[in-house]
Amino acid sequence: MKHSEPLKLDIELYFAEELSKEDASSLESHLQQCPVCHDYLQTLRRERNEFLADHPFSELKIEKSQSPWFQKLLDILTRPALYPVYGLLLIVAITVPVLFFGNRAQISDEIRYKGTAGLTFFFQRDGVIHEGDKRKQYRGGDQIQILYNSTKEQFAALISIDSRGQISFYHPQQNSDFCSEKTTAGAGLTFPGSIILDDSEGSELIILLLSDKPLPVKTVRTWISELYEEFPQISELEKVIVKKKLKPVSQAFTLLLHKE
Ligand SMILES: [Zn+2]
Repeated sequence: MKHSEPLKLDIELYFAEELSKEDASSLESHLQQCPVCHDYLQTLRRERNEFLADHPFSELKIEKSQSPWFQKLLDILTRPALYPVYGLLLIVAITVPVLFFGNRAQISDEIRYKGTAGLTFFFQRDGVIHEGDKRKQYRGGDQIQILYNSTKEQFAALISIDSRGQISFYHPQQNSDFCSEKTTAGAGLTFPGSIILDDSEGSELIILLLSDKPLPVKTVRTWISELYEEFPQISELEKVIVKKKLKPVSQAFTLLLHKE
C-alpha cells in the first residue's frame, strides 16, 4: 500500500501501545516497507525524547487533582448526564463521608490511586513512559519510577530483592551508611532514585520503608536477607516484610513485579 500521508492514527495508537497484538504486528510489517509511516513513527519518538530532555524521568509526577474529595463528589452529583441515577448517588453521598472521616488518610489515597496501595509507579521502556501495572510482565532495561504517599515529614528508603536473593538499594548517595532520604508529607511523591531492571528471570520485590529516623544500609540488608533465608518464596517474603516491621519503620510498602 503506497500513500503520501502516513497512517497517523494507527501509528499513534501503536506508539502508545494501545493496538491489539495482531494490529501491532501487521503495522510493524507495514512500517518496514513504508518510509512515509516509518518517518512518522520516528518523529513521534523524537518528540518524546525532546520532552524527556526537558522533563527528566525522575521529575515526572502524577497529575493529581487539587480539589478536595467533596468537590469531586459535588462535580459528580451535578453532572447532568447522571440525573437518572441521582438516587443511587445520594446513597453514596451519605455513606461515603462516614468512611472518609473514619479513615481519612487511607481513603484519600485510594481516590488518587484508584484503589491500590500507597505506592504506585511509572515505567519507561524504549524511551516511552507508561503508567505502571502490577499485572504486566517487565523486562531487563525497564526503568521503574516509584511514587509513594507519606502522611508526615519523615524518611524513605527504597530497596529491592529479586528471586535469587540479590538485594539492591536506590538512594542517590550510594556510599552513605544510611539508605533513607528525607521526605515531605504528600501523595504521589517521587523517590529520588529509579530502578532499572536487570535481565535475571523471576520476580523483583520492591520495598519502600518509611521511618522517623534514617535507616542504616547494614541493618536493612541484614534484616531483609535473614527474612529471605526464612521465606525464599518472594510472594511469601512480601507478606512478611509488611507484617514484621523493622524497628523504627512506621510503614512498609511493597510492589511485586514479574519479569519475562
Ligand atoms: Zn504507510
